[in-house]
Amino acid sequence: MIKKLLLSLFAMLAGLVTLSCTPIVYEHDVFTTVYPLQYIVESIFANTELTVGLVPGVSSHNEAIDWSPKEIIAMGDADFLFYVGANFDTYIDNQVGQIFTNKNVELVKTENNLVEFIPGIVHSHDEEEDHDENPALSNTLGYDPHFWISPKRMITVAENIYIILLAKYPDLSETFATNYIALAENLNSLDTAYTNMISSSMKTIMTSTNLYSYLHEDYGLEFVPVSPGYHEETDQFTSAQKQAIVNEAIEHEITHIIFEREASSPFSTAVIASLVSLGYDVKKIEFVVMDSLHHKDIENNDNYVTLMYKNYEVIAIATNQLGD
Ligand SMILES: [Zn+2]
Repeated sequence: MIKKLLLSLFAMLAGLVTLSCTPIVYEHDVFTTVYPLQYIVESIFANTELTVGLVPGVSSHNEAIDWSPKEIIAMGDADFLFYVGANFDTYIDNQVGQIFTNKNVELVKTENNLVEFIPGIVHSHDEEEDHDENPALSNTLGYDPHFWISPKRMITVAENIYIILLAKYPDLSETFATNYIALAENLNSLDTAYTNMISSSMKTIMTSTNLYSYLHEDYGLEFVPVSPGYHEETDQFTSAQKQAIVNEAIEHEITHIIFEREASSPFSTAVIASLVSLGYDVKKIEFVVMDSLHHKDIENNDNYVTLMYKNYEVIAIATNQLGD
């Protein structure tokens, strides 16, 4: 009797557990280290049984991740792992020896392989300093990993990933072709929208961080970053440094400073406060960088393309082509 009770109790508990937890899926056919690469693969895999997932535990510009044995086995058994390179996901290169040697998975690096990368643009805020090329200085940022900020680079990466996947899964070539045409159309429309919007404005924008080099290179967007690094925020800045940025904002008639979504930027916040105290109407707006999707993006059914149209509006507002 007691045994029977215990058994039914156990069955109930087991039922509760399955009801309350979404099962964690470890296995995927393809892994990626950043959402835009996942978006490309997911689009090509539509209406097939193949799945793609983000590498567990990713956060951008990380050097190491402690994976569980289950996660390591799942990644090793996958067919491909697409990663960025350019110091974005150094944990892959750092852990290749221990984790990915003699495994099924094929590692594919995006940097200068699926698309050309460009060095991050170093901006000088010092008006006095002449703008001669200082190679040591201009190499400090290295290659900019944020290629997906440019729809043009995404088009090239999508084309190259399509070719790789087609070779691996030839039986699915018809479905892949249909999916790829749809993906390419979406990316081309996005590219046209960015080309038209950015080319119709000569206005320089101001951004809290320095990850918009691909929009400059591919579309001619002029931007002035408040902080020199891709993400890192200058917590400590001198009043002279702040004044140099404030002067630049006034010179370029800046009306908005573009922050990364949900990221704090003490330096940019201080610049806005100074400008407002001088009587300028300057507001903060937010750009979605998309290293990974947030929970609310998934709830909103947002994806790379829809978020890039939101970013399009942000740039249109900052270049005074839309009201706010
Ligand atoms: Zn980044």
